[in-house]
Amino acid sequence: MSAAEMPEDQAGNMTDGFHLVVEALKLNGIDTIYGVAGIPITDLLRLAQAEGLRYFGFRHEQSAGNAAAIAGFLTQKPGVCMTVSAPGFLNGLVALANATTNCFPMILISGSSDRAIVDLEQGDYEELDQLNAARPYAKAAYRVNRPQDIGLGIARAIRAAVSGRPGGVYLDLTAEVLGAALDEATAKKSLIKVVDPAPPQPPAAHAVARALEILAGARRPLAILGKGAAYARAEAEIRAFIEATGMPFLPMSMAKGLLPDDHPQSAAAARSYVIGNADVVLLVGARLNWLLSHGRAPLWNSDTQIIQVDIEPAEIDSNRAIAAPVVGDIKSVFAALNAAIKPGQIERQAAWLDEIDKRKRQNIERMAARLNADPSPMNFSSALRAVRNALADRPDVYIVNEGANTLDFARNIIDMREPRHRLDSGTWGVMGIGMGYAIGAAAVTGRPVVAIEGDSAFGFSGMEIETICRYDLPVTTVIFNNNGVYRGDPEDRPYSPTGLIRGARYDRIIEAFGGKGYHVTDTPGLTAALQEALASRRPALINAVIDPTAGTESGHIQALNPRSAIAPGRSA
Ligand code: ADP
Ligand code: MG
Repeated sequence: MSAAEMPEDQAGNMTDGFHLVVEALKLNGIDTIYGVAGIPITDLLRLAQAEGLRYFGFRHEQSAGNAAAIAGFLTQKPGVCMTVSAPGFLNGLVALANATTNCFPMILISGSSDRAIVDLEQGDYEELDQLNAARPYAKAAYRVNRPQDIGLGIARAIRAAVSGRPGGVYLDLTAEVLGAALDEATAKKSLIKVVDPAPPQPPAAHAVARALEILAGARRPLAILGKGAAYARAEAEIRAFIEATGMPFLPMSMAKGLLPDDHPQSAAAARSYVIGNADVVLLVGARLNWLLSHGRAPLWNSDTQIIQVDIEPAEIDSNRAIAAPVVGDIKSVFAALNAAIKPGQIERQAAWLDEIDKRKRQNIERMAARLNADPSPMNFSSALRAVRNALADRPDVYIVNEGANTLDFARNIIDMREPRHRLDSGTWGVMGIGMGYAIGAAAVTGRPVVAIEGDSAFGFSGMEIETICRYDLPVTTVIFNNNGVYRGDPEDRPYSPTGLIRGARYDRIIEAFGGKGYHVTDTPGLTAALQEALASRRPALINAVIDPTAGTESGHIQALNPRSAIAPGRSA
């Protein structure tokens, strides 16, 4: 019996699953939901909105999930995404898996069909064993089978998402539980306010001492900062340590801005040199995965000693031997390192720093020629210079970035000065995060967002332009339009697997929803359009026409193409 069906004299004392979910979220400070409405969650979303939660309705669950995930990264609170059953859930699952892979805290809550029918495969509407489907892609997965367990289920989901290494959590709510009635007194008592969901995890003193001892012996130390450090909001502690020791640092892409990219100790412009020649690497919230060549030759030297700071003990030694694991949360670890380090313990590494400076200068000079050229049509470098110029006095702007060449070039050309302001394809190098991340970032920060998108990458979430316009979000999407995946097809040939329609006017998509479209073909036009769009603080889309022959296949990761070794020139 649902609350609505109760006799009137009892109904006043009864509540239902819908109300309990909303109460449990509110009790735990979750104030925003991203989702797509439908059976059986429509009333849940209506109720949440009526109860004062913000609701962002998307056009596809993957984007809603991506928005929730990036909100989690930016706030240290799990972003909540709600979807319908079966296909809606599966669409959201991609985002959940991506959140788990990137260590972003997120909760995917999906309504599900009648368990009795699902488990006997009797063919229910949107039938799917969602709990088991979610398990391999989530940090944790739970199902609530009784209304009195809703509070518990949400408490467990929150704790699992944000404690230790953050990740994606799936919470299955059956239609039956959502509609189930419960008396208010029992319901109230069943709710849990999670105390200290992500408790500090200070490192062991001996681990800190061991790390400092190794660093003290270093002649060519290097710090590598990853997005775990950005998530941990440890920029003040990290900066203090890096400046006190004088050691060079290298940011991973989403750690750019933790220390400003123009910091004199940044070694980003001499990346392979510093990785290959460091004798001690202090690895902070970054995994030795493909993005760091697994810590192996030829990029890495097998003699380099590694100090790894991570909250996840099982991460240590995942790709190569770690001389000094420091397991703990990064904020506590750096507080401990700063407290334990003695003045002069790590001496200035003059020869090392001089050599790095020399190489930085050389590389920057080499890049400058390409960056300052003004070809017509624009290429990736010149178009990004135009974008960079428009952003020069706007360090507050959040940058979302995806594509192949668009990603590779933008990462190098667009400097970041504020932490957690660069949001990109991340650990999977995935496409499709663009509009979801842009909406999530705008939703939780209220700041302007510029999404720098390859034309192909944009397509995966492009319909969310309507969402951006509906909520009037300050998001400017810049599409680097070269008519294709990697690059465009020659005019006189039929479309290849990587070709996209020639001369597409993406700017007209946003006009359909009342946003501002720009069609630009040169660098002054691009800079001016972006400045105007930013100043307007309203939805805008800039279709930046670039040379269809610009761009290499797979960008910087061509080596990962199975046939690249035997088919040189495939990218031509
Ligand atoms: P990047 O892609 O920037 O190299 P990764 O996603 O590979 O970064 O690595 C992030 C690492 O940070 C993960 O191993 C994760 O366990 C760790 N991490 C996340 N949050 C914290 C934290 N608060 N303290 C310590 N480590 C953290
Ligand atoms: Mg393209």
